[in-house]
Amino acid sequence: MAPSNAAKAFRQTTLTAAKYNVKLFGSLAATGKGHLTDVAISNAFWPVETTFEWYPEKTIGKYPNPMIFEAYDSSPNCLSVWQGYSIGGGAIRAEGDDPKENCIYVHSKLTDILSVCDSKGITFWEYVELYEGEQIWEFLDTILDQMHKTLTQGLSTEGVLPGGLGVARKASAMWRKSTLIGENFLQKGMLPAYALAVAEENACGNLVVTAPTCGASGVLPAVIKYVEDQIPTSRIQLSRALAVAGLIGNSIKYNASISGAEVGCQGEIGAACAMAAGAAVQLMGGTNRQIEYAAEMGLEHHLGLTCDPVAGLVQIPCIERNAFAATRALDCARFALFSDGNHRVSFDDVVKVMKQTGHDIPHLYRETAAGGLAKAYKHKSRNSGE
Ligand code: SF4
Repeated sequence: MAPSNAAKAFRQTTLTAAKYNVKLFGSLAATGKGHLTDVAISNAFWPVETTFEWYPEKTIGKYPNPMIFEAYDSSPNCLSVWQGYSIGGGAIRAEGDDPKENCIYVHSKLTDILSVCDSKGITFWEYVELYEGEQIWEFLDTILDQMHKTLTQGLSTEGVLPGGLGVARKASAMWRKSTLIGENFLQKGMLPAYALAVAEENACGNLVVTAPTCGASGVLPAVIKYVEDQIPTSRIQLSRALAVAGLIGNSIKYNASISGAEVGCQGEIGAACAMAAGAAVQLMGGTNRQIEYAAEMGLEHHLGLTCDPVAGLVQIPCIERNAFAATRALDCARFALFSDGNHRVSFDDVVKVMKQTGHDIPHLYRETAAGGLAKAYKHKSRNSGE
């Protein structure tokens, strides 16, 4: 998504270009074909011809996922060059950008936000409204709509996912079976089915809401839909839960990272779990402190999770990870609700640890599609002669 957004923006500044050349580096190159990065960029530059250079072993600049766009006229003289990075969740950072300029709120740490909320007697969602203005609710309503649309489409679609791994969609069958089994199994079947539905849509390249990324986009909608099924909930209450989730995701993005290429899957699935756990507590009527506790647990219990997508496709292990993170998010929310919200390790501490852990994880396990499960599956295929 980020390379596509970057290409669209670059196209607007180079409308006379007769050809584009794109250089992709590091994990963006290693997983680019599986993530359909070349297709997304070519579509953004269409109808102008685009050539690609892939440098999976090389990285440039300060951030992961670097890319360079070059625009040429028909001579071919180089008209313009742009260098930037895909930093997760569809966001782009151009070379020379100051990350601090992109912080939406005055405070990025939940501890500071908690203090402000305590002193003003407000909730997290009221804090969001304070800085974003009332128009945020209309925006979040459209986000909610798209989440529901993606989830519903995923539940009603069957067949094999594209990419050549032969992974069959599971959401639809799981959902239908869950409706038959009975009340006690609803969470065990329904909630993962919701998460699978969205993650399978993402694997097909269909429209999803990045929450916080495409790879982890199934967790938050699944938890919100599941809680909505259980408790009578208004649209505005759902939007408030999204606002809380956004505040949590923003804190992780600003103080650590939501990029699998930078910190491993803990930054994608772990962050999604934290966001969903916080949103669930909000929907269940919990306090700010219980929300912070649930988010802390959601991230803490994914620390160290590596990013090792088989064949660079966002399918194995990504799709099932969405389902298990959704289940864990709901458990974290219930755990926090049963407590008074007091705990020792703060959410901000865990974010800091996640960042450090991510940097300590060997590069192989940060979206190279060459380590962990990605490597094991290749071996298995070779050994079995497939
Ligand atoms: S394994 Fe990697 S690609 Fe898959 S969801 Fe996790 S971070 Fe994203």
